[in-house]
Amino acid sequence: MSRLPRGPEVGMLGSPVVIWRGFVASPCRLDCEVPMRNTIAVAGALLSVVACAGGKPRQDANGADAAWELHRTAIVVDTHSDTTPRFEDPEWDFLQRHDPSDGHMDLPRMREGGLDVQFWSIYMGQREGEGRAIREALQRIDAVHRLVDQHPDELGLATNVEEIRKLVAEGRIACLMGVEGGHIIENDLAALRSFYRLGVRYLTLTHSFHTDWADSSGTGRDLEPLHHGLTEFGEEVVLTMNRLGMMVDVSHVSDETFSDVLAVSRAPVIASHSSARAVANHRRNVSDDMLRALAENGGVIMINFYPVYIDEEANRAADAYYQKWGRRMAEIQKAHADDPKARAKAYRAQTSAHPLPQTSFDVLLDHFDHAIVVAGPDHVGIGADWDGVPSMPVGMEDVTFLPELTRGLLGRGHSPEVVRKVLGENLLRVMAEVETVAEHLREEMSAESAPSHP
Ligand SMILES: [Zn+2]
Repeated sequence: MSRLPRGPEVGMLGSPVVIWRGFVASPCRLDCEVPMRNTIAVAGALLSVVACAGGKPRQDANGADAAWELHRTAIVVDTHSDTTPRFEDPEWDFLQRHDPSDGHMDLPRMREGGLDVQFWSIYMGQREGEGRAIREALQRIDAVHRLVDQHPDELGLATNVEEIRKLVAEGRIACLMGVEGGHIIENDLAALRSFYRLGVRYLTLTHSFHTDWADSSGTGRDLEPLHHGLTEFGEEVVLTMNRLGMMVDVSHVSDETFSDVLAVSRAPVIASHSSARAVANHRRNVSDDMLRALAENGGVIMINFYPVYIDEEANRAADAYYQKWGRRMAEIQKAHADDPKARAKAYRAQTSAHPLPQTSFDVLLDHFDHAIVVAGPDHVGIGADWDGVPSMPVGMEDVTFLPELTRGLLGRGHSPEVVRKVLGENLLRVMAEVETVAEHLREEMSAESAPSHP
């Protein structure tokens, strides 16, 4: 893979990174701080124009391709895709190949990218009104189940590591779910337990705003601490997840919440889509101290691919872009509030005429490198944030480019064994440990509650 220049290259290859600032507080669909409905269609229009539409070389000059062979035979796991709301759109076809300007993944592209295991995100912004978040989550979970039911030869729902390995061995893509945002349980442990029973296997404790029981890092701006970490109920949420066997996700939480979670959790935790703060200083990323703590906990950081998080220059340039174009973007939003397709077309015209800054694939590799060095090779994985962010780095425009990650990591000198761990085995190990801890905790509980013999 050719080395591309680091940092924002405005207009480079005609590939805009579009960030959703100015009229909503944050750049991306998933990470937005202001709730938006129908955001898939909106942000779909914001996706980058394909820079490398010609495909990717899969062989070296000798015709051999160790990287592709490794990628093909590894279990490749991604822990964060926000494609989920598209499952509820009757006009969107999972079986159809879409252009990267129209989303990061669909079945043909997941196959081409060699992606075996996907955690679909059950996400939404803040919701007013009792029951609304839970009901919306149920609709989204139902849509995942229905998608799997509609494509039994291609997909299967997995709820544990054994099922994941079985599905992958059968040539099917293992589908799992993570609920993104503790607000979605509406302060009700019964909702948390019910989500688990429906197949949800991680909960991100906060989204881009505080919950009643855990502080968030914020996304586009720093938030004033509310609880300074987890409240007592927040601790109970974590321990309940431990007993259920649901992974605790610390992406999006504040540093104080992160520390509290690690102090409380009986099981390893994950950061489902976060990158390294030492490489790019962004509040959504994880510091070196946090990386080391996560490793000590036995957990794993799943690296987020979003240019604005992983490249400070791209972040600054995005700010400048929205100072200039935020008003225009807000006008487009207002003018086409009820017509997602017209809105998408207008955004596409805007971003084609005025592309946003980009970042390179090498910068993404820097985050993997750094996390592998600081946290160790057993504690790093992939959490790209597909379709949750308006663009990906040049050379990683959509899921079809995933084999390039394998090639890139090998090129940086990581052994095939390490690369295989990063591609998926690390996450599977953590998930298996979370399952084991849950069994032990349930045994402890039943022993404690057993009647004592005279
Ligand atoms: Zn997120």
